[in-house]
Amino acid sequence: MSGGTQPTYLAFDIGGTKVASGFVTLPAAAGDTPIVTGRCSIPTEAARGGDDLKRRIVALAMRQLEQAAAEDVTITGIGIAAAGVPDSETGVIVAATDILPGWRGQRIYDAFADVTDLPVRMIGDVGAHGLGEASYGAGRGKGVVLSIGVGTGIGGAIVVDGGLFTGAHGVAGHAGHVPSALGRGFLCSCGTREGHIEPVASGTGLKDLYNRRLEGAHEGADAADTAVEAGGDVPEPASSGADVAARAAAGEPLACAVLADSARALGECIGGMGNLVDPDVIVVSGSVVKAGPIWWDALRDGFAESALALVKPTPLVEGALGGDAPLIGAAAAVRQYVQSR
Ligand SMILES: [Zn+2]
Repeated sequence: MSGGTQPTYLAFDIGGTKVASGFVTLPAAAGDTPIVTGRCSIPTEAARGGDDLKRRIVALAMRQLEQAAAEDVTITGIGIAAAGVPDSETGVIVAATDILPGWRGQRIYDAFADVTDLPVRMIGDVGAHGLGEASYGAGRGKGVVLSIGVGTGIGGAIVVDGGLFTGAHGVAGHAGHVPSALGRGFLCSCGTREGHIEPVASGTGLKDLYNRRLEGAHEGADAADTAVEAGGDVPEPASSGADVAARAAAGEPLACAVLADSARALGECIGGMGNLVDPDVIVVSGSVVKAGPIWWDALRDGFAESALALVKPTPLVEGALGGDAPLIGAAAAVRQYVQSR
């Protein structure tokens, strides 16, 4: 299955709802595409706690390694894209949100060392996504890549010359937690209500911004005027970011305004990040990038407004690897680790 010179890695993407794994064969030539096979996933079942999750991930790894052996696939290393903030040197999860109770403090490398001699490298899931896109996706061939993921939450990663920039505490790239006036009064996943971009620009944030304005509409504020001026009835609350995007695509004025305001505010934040990092390319991925032209146009407008003259022409492009990006990035991370030893 894998070529002689193309190493294959067992990769994991540990998220809040599922743990995905697969065999990732990284290409020898720069222009070729990684191949992901042997895909497998288990539910995270976060409520069972961090110990239980760690044990089930190691058990999954054992099954995957047996399958690889049965298929005559040689596994060269294990790459892990983990939710939370992992310490790549020690293999310990140093921070995690309430989405994964008991995940913080888990010693992942130790658990793997008990069952395999293969080299293991773990990085953050958002960093892995960025590393995957920078190495083999929309940022391939570029020196400095700023990757922004806009899904249930908002995350980011900075990749410089193929290496993930993680900062002093592994926190670098937390793109959702930059100030935005639009977010004031909305509870961010980090705990602040002072105005971060995530709670009004993630998929969940789009829904919350829409429903907040709808409440305002019921109380006779601006949004009602918008709806009434357009000759429409006051709509039902939105159920998701995708719901808001669908309403906008159907021409509903409130949804169009929310989508545009949210994307413009996010674009302004990305412009500020662009001024700080000066990337060659900005890769935007995640479920919300499917929200359509209203979203993309407003994102680009907001970016252009806050980016410095030399940063303004930086391409803002959609990610190319989809859901495989973290697996591919995790494989790239363990390959870098093995090559550096
Ligand atoms: Zn925050």
